[in-house]
Order: sequence, then C-alpha cells, then structure tokens
Amino acid sequence: MQFEFPEDKKFFAGILAEGDEDLLDVEYSDLFDFRHPAIKRWEFDKVSKKVLRELTEKHKSECQLRIHHECSNDDGFEPDHIIPLSSNVLNKELRHMKPEKGMKVVAQSFGSNNPRNLTLACRKCNRLKKHRILSGGILEKLLVGDVSFVDKERVRLLSLH
Ligand SMILES: [Zn+2]
Repeated sequence: MQFEFPEDKKFFAGILAEGDEDLLDVEYSDLFDFRHPAIKRWEFDKVSKKVLRELTEKHKSECQLRIHHECSNDDGFEPDHIIPLSSNVLNKELRHMKPEKGMKVVAQSFGSNNPRNLTLACRKCNRLKKHRILSGGILEKLLVGDVSFVDKERVRLLSLH
C-alpha cells in the first residue's frame, strides 16, 4: 500500500499488525482507500441507507463503538468507518503540523468503504469518535465484531485525539 508518509504505514502496522508492514499489506489493505475523500463520500452516500440497514441487522441494533459514557441504542444509528475516510490526526500527532490561521490542520485520505471497514455506531459514539483513529485493542475487536469490552476500557483505548 502506498501511504503518503512512511511513518503513517508504520503507525497503522503498529495498531493493526503488531508492527509488521507486510502483514498490514496482506491482511488490511481492504480497509484503506487513498483516493480523494469526496469521491469516497460520494460513493458511500449512494449506498449508505442500504449499508445502515445491513449493519443494523448484522449487529442486532447494538452500538459497536461504546466509547461515549451515554452510549445508547435508543437514538438511532449511523454507519461508522472504522478507519476514518479522512483524518488529520497523523499530521497533528506524528508531524506536529499546526493549523494555518483560521484553518484546520489538513486532513489525509485513509479509510475505505469496504464492508470490513464499516460498523454500527450510535449517534453519540459516532460524534465522539469523529475522525479519531482508535487504538489496536479496540480496532481488532471492532473488526471481528466483538463488543465484550466494558465502556471505560474502550474510552481509555482511544490512542489519538
Ligand atoms: Zn454508542
């Protein structure tokens, strides 16, 4: 996979593949799509209703993130891109980029619309997660659909914010 910066690949290998960049390529390339986020968003919007229906059924109307202290299955759900479609957290955290006056730090394109990169989130958890990238322990569990974590443990596992 062609990441913009080598340290980004190292970062994702660290949280997904125990630091093994070859394993990241082999096992996790379907989670990534480096095209412009607007293209990915446009493609996703066309199928988002169907995706939400499928995710709601698959996860039996239960939020998979459980990172907000008021996580609730009562306020409706949204599809969540486990690896966000775009994020500026690596520019901020790894490269310490500062925002231009009145602007946000520029975002990079990361996540794909592949079903494997999608999960079901309640609105509160989805709003909290935004463009954050969750750390290895929770990512692994999301990818296999394991929601056995207690909420507090999940919050602590947020690696970047
Ligand atoms: Zn939730």
